[in-house]
Amino acid sequence: MAADWPDRTAAPRAAYIHVPFCRHRCGYCNFSVVAGRDDLIDRFLTAIDHEMQTWDQPTLNTLFVGGGTPTHLNASQLDRFCQSIRRHVRLADDAEISFEANPEDIDTTKVRQLSDHGVNRISLGVQSFDADKIQRLERGHTAAEAIAAIETAATVIGNVSVDLIFAAPGESVATWQRDLDQALKLPIRHLSAYALTIEKGTQFFARHRKGELRPAGEDDEWQMYQDLRDATAAAGMPQYEVSNFAPPANRCRHNIAYWQGQAWLAAGPGAAAFLNGRRTVNHRSTTTYLKRIESGHSPVAESEPLDADQYARELMAFGVRMIDGVDLTSVARRSGLDLNEKFGDTLRRLIDDALIQRDGDRVRLTPRGLLFADTVASAFL
Ligand code: SF4
Repeated sequence: MAADWPDRTAAPRAAYIHVPFCRHRCGYCNFSVVAGRDDLIDRFLTAIDHEMQTWDQPTLNTLFVGGGTPTHLNASQLDRFCQSIRRHVRLADDAEISFEANPEDIDTTKVRQLSDHGVNRISLGVQSFDADKIQRLERGHTAAEAIAAIETAATVIGNVSVDLIFAAPGESVATWQRDLDQALKLPIRHLSAYALTIEKGTQFFARHRKGELRPAGEDDEWQMYQDLRDATAAAGMPQYEVSNFAPPANRCRHNIAYWQGQAWLAAGPGAAAFLNGRRTVNHRSTTTYLKRIESGHSPVAESEPLDADQYARELMAFGVRMIDGVDLTSVARRSGLDLNEKFGDTLRRLIDDALIQRDGDRVRLTPRGLLFADTVASAFL
C-alpha cells in the first residue's frame, strides 16, 4: 500500500484507449502494435468492451483514442467500438474527444462518422510531407494524401493536430524547414514535433547497428528545434510544452492532464493508467492481452504504487516541461511534502546552471533549459 498523499484518491477525469492495429509497422515504431492481423479486430472489440466494464462509468473531461491506428477499423467496427465506449463512460458536455488517424485512412465519410460519434479532435500522424523522408520513415501515405486528410478533417471536425518528426536519418535542415512551412500553411490548430529516437527493438535499431542508418548530427538537430520554435511562434502557434505548439484554446487538455499528474484510466494492449496512486501497464502483446481477458484474467502486466515522494518527483519532472512551468505551492499541496527540503539543492543547481528560472513559486525552463529539458526533468526523478 502506497503511503498516503492528498491527491491519491482523486477521481479520474481522463481516459486513454489503445487500438493496436496498423497496416504495416513503420521502421522506427516501438509502440504496442500488430500489423496485418485484422483477423483479431473483432476479438479486440469484445475484449476492450470487457475491460471498460471495470471502469465504473466515469465522467470524463477528456478521452484520447490512440494506437496503432484507430481509423484502421472499418465503418461497422468503428460504430461498434464507439457505441461500446459510450456504454461505459459519461462524457462532460465540453469533453475533448480525440482520435489518432493516419492520412491514408481518412476520407470524408470516415471523418463524418467520427464526428457523428462526438469526436471533436483529430490527431494526424503525418510525420513529413517530403517524399524521400516519408519513404525513409516507412510511412504509408504520400504528401498529397496528408494534405488532403488535414483539409478534410479541418472541414468536418475543425480541431486538427498534426504530428511531425525531425532529425530523421539523412534529413537536412532545409528539408525540415520545408516540412514546417507546409504544415503551418495548412488549417491545423495544434502541432506536436519530436526528434526521432532510435529505440531498442525497432527495425531502425537493428539497421543502425549494422551502420545502414546515419542519425542526424546534434548541431543539425538543435537548429531544427530552433527553427520549429521560431516558425510556430511566427505562425501564432506558441509553444506550450517542450514538443507541443498551439494557441491556448487548442492546447491538448488530455496531455495536460498527464503532465499535471492527474488520474487517468486506460484500456487496450500496452496501455498505462494512473489510478488511486498506482501506475499500471497492460500486457503489450495484443494476443496475450486478448487471451488474458478472454480467460477472465486481468490484462495488467505491471503495477507499481507511488508514494508521496515519487509523486512529487513526477509532478516536478513532467510539470517543468510545460512552458508555463510548475507551481511549487501546488506540488507541495498535492503531495503533502515540504519541497524546500526535498528539492532545494536541485533547484539551486539548475538555477546556477541557467537551466531553470524561478519566479516566486513558479519554476520554468530557460531558453537554454529547453534544449536540455530531458536533463532538467531527470534531475527531479
Ligand atoms: S502508423 Fe504509427 S503506430 Fe502504426 S506502425 Fe507506424 S508509427 Fe507505429
